[in-house]
Amino acid sequence: MDMTWFDEMEARIPTGEVRTRFAPSPTGYMHVGNLRTALYTWLIARSMGGKFLLRIEDTDQGRLVADAADIIYKTLRQTGLTWDEGPDVGGPVGPYIQTERRDFYAKYAHLLVEKGAAYYCFCEKTESEEDSGEFDRAADPCRDLDPAAAKARVDAGEPFVIRQKIPAGTTTFSDAIYGDITVDNADLDDQVLLKRDGLPTYNFANVIDDHLMGITHVVRGSEYLSSAPKYDLLYRAFGWNIPTYVHCSPVMRDAQNKMSKRHGDPSYEDLLALGYLSEAVVNYVALLGWSPRGEYAETEFFALDELVKVFDIHGISKSPAIFDLEKLKYFNAHYLRALEPDTFFAIAEPYLKEAIHSPAIDLSLVAPLVQPRCDTLLDIAPQVDFFDAVPEYSNELYCHKKMKTDEVNSKEALEWVIPALEALSQWTFDTIHDCLIALAEAKELKNGRIMWPVRTALSGKAVTPGGAVELCHILGREETLRRLCAGIAHLS
Ligand code: GLU
Repeated sequence: MDMTWFDEMEARIPTGEVRTRFAPSPTGYMHVGNLRTALYTWLIARSMGGKFLLRIEDTDQGRLVADAADIIYKTLRQTGLTWDEGPDVGGPVGPYIQTERRDFYAKYAHLLVEKGAAYYCFCEKTESEEDSGEFDRAADPCRDLDPAAAKARVDAGEPFVIRQKIPAGTTTFSDAIYGDITVDNADLDDQVLLKRDGLPTYNFANVIDDHLMGITHVVRGSEYLSSAPKYDLLYRAFGWNIPTYVHCSPVMRDAQNKMSKRHGDPSYEDLLALGYLSEAVVNYVALLGWSPRGEYAETEFFALDELVKVFDIHGISKSPAIFDLEKLKYFNAHYLRALEPDTFFAIAEPYLKEAIHSPAIDLSLVAPLVQPRCDTLLDIAPQVDFFDAVPEYSNELYCHKKMKTDEVNSKEALEWVIPALEALSQWTFDTIHDCLIALAEAKELKNGRIMWPVRTALSGKAVTPGGAVELCHILGREETLRRLCAGIAHLS
């Protein structure tokens, strides 16, 4: 076989640097487990000063979803997982979309036949035999065909697949997390590498691509552990360096079951729609199956650039991690509270607008009231709905033991408050505050005796973000006085 083309392919492969790849199949959403794989893969590259590649694995056409690749780009952008090479930015070892590489695989499959590590197989096997690998390879009439005779049948146009010829003996491969694993080759099937239609199987394509792209660390889910010895045998047959395998344990919804979109578990996009911040999701997902060590062992909050500094492969755990929405909520609350007020307002505004339609309400004044009081962005709207209109409420809301308020003295308080507020020449937080405090003082009452009825009349709620003064200020003079009068009527 003329090796010129193969030599040129070898010559393109960058060396002397860490290279990792995220190789998603375009499914239409970003599974939490996939996001974690992407994150760890990116962190390995970035923490070791290497390159991070994006490769779209779309060979399985049945699973192709329109625009699905866009979701991948969008998610990586949103999460800050920048890529150095990929379908859109190109790079030295492209193309970066598997279907655009389809001509490569057949060449390598035929080369492998020549090397004696694969064979042409002309048998018609049922799909289930193929899928399960359950057929007796000793009984396969093609396995030991005379190579020249087999080649002649191929050249004559007979349909064939190319199968990996698993040798006798055992295979030991190494994984950075699981250590050395030895398997009996008798348990490995002579898997198909190249299908009848000339397209590769996933198991073949990934080895060719990872080699040709110079990938040094292959990060993937532990469901690929059982295929790893077959990949190893392929690398060895070609005489290629074997990358470091990093198999990650699954992300579980509970002790028994993996997280799954089909069973209603949220994807990354779902989590954003549920009011979680991308940064919080990334931070939480980083800790699903990886723990910082040494001086950071007790730290749980990490921005992406901090993760780059502390991440190391050996912190990845073998045991499956359980995804806990409550824990994510805790991370999210932390991130929401830590936002600069302006940033929080920009993020919260659409959620505030959902509940508050009155143009008289300055939403930038409402935002700081809810910032410390929400775990997710979806907690905003239900807290602020009363700004538009006071909901139905019971007069029992006026009765508060600790504040020493009841229906009678609340009505009395509102009757004092109205003229006092009416007399204000300026309607600012401070003037309102001083006015109400002065009123309590003049009546020799605790502040709560005045504040509680005011807040209740303005909101019709037992709990509000912000107290009486904030609410008066935001609602404005006219609306405040109108609501206080309505409160008196409610109590009469
Ligand atoms: N396309 C495969 C998947 O999405 C990637 C597996 C791998 O990283 O090798 O599961």
